Amino acid sequence: MIGIIGGTGVYEIVTMGDEIDKRVIKTPYGNSPEISLFQLHGKRVAFMPRHAKGHSNPPHMINYRANIYAMKKLGVERILATNAVGSLERSVNPGDFVIPHDFIDFTKIRKGSFYDDRTVHIDVTEPYCNELRSTIKSSGDVIDGGVYVCTEGPRFETPAEIQMFHMIGGTIVGMTGIPEAVLARELEMCYASICTVSNYAASISPTNLTIDEVFEIMDRKKHDLVKLMDISISKMSEERSCHCMGALKGAEI
Ligand SMILES: [Zn+2]
Repeated sequence: MIGIIGGTGVYEIVTMGDEIDKRVIKTPYGNSPEISLFQLHGKRVAFMPRHAKGHSNPPHMINYRANIYAMKKLGVERILATNAVGSLERSVNPGDFVIPHDFIDFTKIRKGSFYDDRTVHIDVTEPYCNELRSTIKSSGDVIDGGVYVCTEGPRFETPAEIQMFHMIGGTIVGMTGIPEAVLARELEMCYASICTVSNYAASISPTNLTIDEVFEIMDRKKHDLVKLMDISISKMSEERSCHCMGALKGAEI
């Protein structure tokens, strides 16, 4: 099964397939948001709205462990995530799609592991699944690679923070990508993200975008994003040939 963890406004993908069921999954960490199960291109897909219904959970309050555990319990092997981000580079523009290959974690209070009673050091030399990234890259017009900086939020970043993120190699900045990617790896699922750039981060561009412009960009790109996910799903092979499924081998002390 393929899992989608959607940010705001990508529910449209569910309406493109044949819906089968809606389910809330019980996990040791709490209940998942309502997940829509549907069939698309002959494949079983599970769609989870990251922020739950009506955008009720802000980024720092999302129950990331319940979300990822629920996907595993459903039998999901690959997770395609969508995230809205700000750009740290003048060459990465609002409206672009970035497929990150690495991340830097500046979150502070989130539960970042399933293994609190065992010592498991998961390898993140390639934090995002390369096989899944290749599939997405061949499915549309995207920027191949980038470093995702994850902040705790919910406040936006200061200009000094943005300058630092840029200096240490960050490409884009957001609040929801981590610990999702790590938790998926801990449960041996593939994970890749399509990051939609909604704006330049503070102090990167000399001209500020208005809120109206940001909404206009996100609204216009919503259709392209759903199309990119749709083509990616159609291209996914039945069998996985990446290393994600063996992530726990040799990771436990
Ligand atoms: Zn993989």
